[in-house]
Amino acid sequence: MDDTELIQAAITEARQNAYAPYSGFRVGAALLCEDGRVFLGANVENAVYGLTMCAERVAVANAVTAGCRSFEALAVVADGPTPCPVCGACRQVLAEFGPETRIIMANIAGEVKKAKLKDLLPTAFTNEQLFNEKR
Ligand SMILES: [Zn+2]
Repeated sequence: MDDTELIQAAITEARQNAYAPYSGFRVGAALLCEDGRVFLGANVENAVYGLTMCAERVAVANAVTAGCRSFEALAVVADGPTPCPVCGACRQVLAEFGPETRIIMANIAGEVKKAKLKDLLPTAFTNEQLFNEKR
């Protein structure tokens, strides 16, 4: 699956199911795993705003639940003025599974911006920090 197809999956298969009654800001994500499978995510808002889940993290949870922990690329799409950036929380969650993941940010207007996760979050907290702890 190429980047354009991944963006289309994020729009037509994920974003359309977003639950965003409060912000109206619907986001779709499509996560391409190393084995070729694609997992989708949409943002899921909550009346307790702080419990809202981003589309990207929903896609990661779907992939991990199915046994996939190696990611090639993530496409995220919303109807904003610029390609949809990935928030800091989602960058950290994605970093758990690989700094080389390609991030494809897009908007409905067709603008696209691409980056490696490690360039979006160069000093991610990793499990190397935990394993260095003296006990
Ligand atoms: Zn996020």
